[in-house]
Amino acid sequence: MPLSRLLLLLMLLGPTWQGAATPAPLSHGAAEAAGDGFPTPAVDIATLLVDADDDTVPDRLGERARVRGVVTISPRTLSSAYFRAVVQDDSAGIVLFSHDLSMPLAPGELIEARGVVGQFQGAVQLQDVEVERIGRAPLPEPVPLSARRAYSWAHMGQRVRVEGRSGGVTLNSFGTMQVTGDDGAELTLYFPESVVRDFDWEHYPHGTHVAATGVVSIYKRTWPYDGGFQVIVTDPGDLAVLAPPAPQWHGWALWTALPVAVLLVLALLVFLLAQRRQKTRRHELATLTALSTAIGVPDLDREQLARRACDILTAYGIAEAALVHVFDGRGGLQRLATSSADPARAINFDLGALLQASDPGAVASAPSQEHRRLIDQSLSAQGLTLLAVHPLPSLSGTQGFFAALSSRNRRPSAMQDRTLLSAVKLLALALENSEIRQRARAEQQELHQLAMTDELTELYNRRFLDEYLRVQLPLTKRRGGHMAFLAIDIDCFKPVNDTWGHEVGDRVLARVAAEIRHCTRSGDLAVRMGGEEFLIVLADADVDDATVFAERLRELIQDKRFEDVVPGTALQVTVSIGVAVFGVHGESAAALLRASDAAMYLSKRSGRNRTTLADDSRRDAPASA
Ligand code: GH3
Ligand code: MG
Ligand code: MG
Repeated sequence: MPLSRLLLLLMLLGPTWQGAATPAPLSHGAAEAAGDGFPTPAVDIATLLVDADDDTVPDRLGERARVRGVVTISPRTLSSAYFRAVVQDDSAGIVLFSHDLSMPLAPGELIEARGVVGQFQGAVQLQDVEVERIGRAPLPEPVPLSARRAYSWAHMGQRVRVEGRSGGVTLNSFGTMQVTGDDGAELTLYFPESVVRDFDWEHYPHGTHVAATGVVSIYKRTWPYDGGFQVIVTDPGDLAVLAPPAPQWHGWALWTALPVAVLLVLALLVFLLAQRRQKTRRHELATLTALSTAIGVPDLDREQLARRACDILTAYGIAEAALVHVFDGRGGLQRLATSSADPARAINFDLGALLQASDPGAVASAPSQEHRRLIDQSLSAQGLTLLAVHPLPSLSGTQGFFAALSSRNRRPSAMQDRTLLSAVKLLALALENSEIRQRARAEQQELHQLAMTDELTELYNRRFLDEYLRVQLPLTKRRGGHMAFLAIDIDCFKPVNDTWGHEVGDRVLARVAAEIRHCTRSGDLAVRMGGEEFLIVLADADVDDATVFAERLRELIQDKRFEDVVPGTALQVTVSIGVAVFGVHGESAAALLRASDAAMYLSKRSGRNRTTLADDSRRDAPASA
């Protein structure tokens, strides 16, 4: 729109203006007829074209032009020696300039002005004007204008209404207020010297939402207009407060609060992490404490230990199933215990078979990748995966393996790893201790046996007899039971030694002892008293029982031929026996031993190979042939 782009600059300017805006010589345009009161015919300003690119009229400078419109800003208000009035016609405003314009003009006056088209620093104006008053007219209604749209020559000189947030106010002879529109574009409100003192600036603090009515002025990069275009406000009533400043964060508060907030969030994160870590540690500790308590009970065998360890680890959720395999004496692996968190799930998993199937040589060390693959294969059919498998160390190497299983295909967490490793160490130690304890117990039993038995005949010795009688005699007495003593001496044994030698004598002694042992029942006791003398304590035998037993034994030995003692010779021996019965021939160990011994000597004196009952109740058994 050519006319709207022909704008006249309102403004400033210092002394340079005069030289810069020297009017061009008059031209004689064709549009205006002569004789209208002006010395030179003038074209209607609407026919002037402004260069579209740089908003200048280089080719029309100096031409005479005419404008008819309403004065919107008077020369008094502008109080500039160079800009006299702003006139707005139907489509745009125009700035009038004249050295000589002394005619007082007031806003609302309808005038027709003629002058020369001039230009100042890219802005177009009408210079050296002659004005004719025509009448009065209402001021044109202000056009609502956003700051962003106003960045154009199209609105220069128009009465407009703008809105935005007030920024900085600068006051000297004139005043300026920076205003930022809702769209972010900035404009400057310009308050001429004649009105700046009428404003109470306290009403417009930074950030106040304001609306102003004025005339769009210059668009130039020249102070104080370098913020963009400006709107000249000439009446305090034309600047209104729409809303007070919005509450704002002060910069310092934001910069203080932000790091504090970040620190708080970080501290919270660290706290939560620490709490989680602590919870995990507590669970780990609780698991290991429960495990130590469960397997710390003395006298548990290896199977019980392994079962308890598996139960604790599955109950505490470290694994969903656990197994312990140990080496048997032949180098194979046997399953010692298994446990599953789901009692309905039976774990069908033979680690030993898998390890040995792939590479028997590797059984003694930690399972290889290949082992793991085989294990995984076997487990996947049961919906399980291998969480971890650890060797159970022992002093002499590896005593077996511990395997932890999971129903999810996931690597163990650091906590699971730690707990399983500690659990394996605890269990390995307990298993080994149990093994050592069991071995020690067996050895002790053996030693005890050795201390209580006679080496040559493997019958109990005299020491054991004393201990036995110390316990059993009072019991027999209290219960009113029976007990019989049989003193046995091999007849004429010295000649055996003398004939065949001591070694043969020893072997014969052992054979006779074996016969004696075979005759006794589990509750009876056979003792080598020394040399070729023996004693049998018959539990629960009265006089008749004991005599019958003695006779049977005597006959058995008498009939025995020891053929393999001396090759080619069938050796034979006989024994003399003396019988004493508890409660009949005495009640103390010493009395009964004495009585049975005396009876045995009676047998000797009576011709040997016979049984004699103690004291006067002696009943001689028939001598063997
Ligand atoms: P009897 O009892 O019938 O009167 O005659 P005996 O020859 O057995 O006489 P006595 O009891 O006096 O002798 C026991 C002999 O038994 C003495 C010894 O040569 C022999 N003797 C004792 N202890 C052992 C032993 O541990 N080994 C061997 N080979 N002989 C033994
Ligand atoms: Mg003897
Ligand atoms: Mg003898």
